[in-house]
Amino acid sequence: MKAAVVRAFGEPLVIEERPEPGPGQVRIRLEASGEGVTHMAVGQRVAVPWLGRVCGRCEHCPSGRETLCEQQINTGYGCDGGYAEKMPAWADFAQQVPGGVTPFDAAPLTYAGVTTYKALKVAGVTPAQVVAISGLGGLGDLAVQYAEIAGATVAAIDVTDDKLELAHELGADLVIGARKQDVGQELKKHGGAHAAIALAVNPAAFEAVGSGLRRGGKLVMVALPAHGTIQVPIYDTVLNGTSAIGSVVGTRQVLAEVFRLHAAGRTKVMYETRPLASVNESIDAVLRGEVKARIVFDLGVGG
Ligand SMILES: [Zn+2]
Repeated sequence: MKAAVVRAFGEPLVIEERPEPGPGQVRIRLEASGEGVTHMAVGQRVAVPWLGRVCGRCEHCPSGRETLCEQQINTGYGCDGGYAEKMPAWADFAQQVPGGVTPFDAAPLTYAGVTTYKALKVAGVTPAQVVAISGLGGLGDLAVQYAEIAGATVAAIDVTDDKLELAHELGADLVIGARKQDVGQELKKHGGAHAAIALAVNPAAFEAVGSGLRRGGKLVMVALPAHGTIQVPIYDTVLNGTSAIGSVVGTRQVLAEVFRLHAAGRTKVMYETRPLASVNESIDAVLRGEVKARIVFDLGVGG
């Protein structure tokens, strides 16, 4: 099976042949089940998340926090991923995709959906709260929708007018242009945010939205700016009882809930499709900020 493979960081991906599945794995496009797999049938549609496999035995795994497992293997990082015509996956982590959810919707939901939905769970969002979504790139459009579904008053923050407009169309109650407005002050006009979800890959954006928390508010860190650090003001943090928490992807249960919401017609996924052969140009386009939505590689299996 052909796949786009990372041979060295910073180098273009190479299209090459990859091995067939081993015991306990399935070949996605489910043309065959691996040995020892009984809960899946050939032809069943599945999605494979970043969490490719966990140990199942550590203190985190059985307590609903499998995303923290230190033995986890990550799809496309610790094992082959989805930039391929076919791929192996551990059957227990391949999530059934409900009818009515297209492959092009399922792909972004399996990362952007699960990650943002989990971040809102970490924040403990409730209907009367103000929730700030900072960064409307590949994850923010879904975060806005989940915060709306949770019933919160949603403030969407970005530097791009197009993205703010989209957030408004997706239901954001207020939009804040981070280049022209003071994010903290704007949020404080609404009493401050109970939760701020930091999705922009820029440490300054973390600090900006964190400055708009109300007393007791939570800054949930999701984006990963390389070597990023933020200044946490000790005095304000102590007196205001604020907190900063990391949130990484989500469990299989979170993904199941994300699919259920989408199948019920409650979320909309933004994407554009490209062929897998364009993988290197596509990554460059993302890095240049030229891609409005997420890119989903069309492998010709339907939509
Ligand atoms: Zn574990």
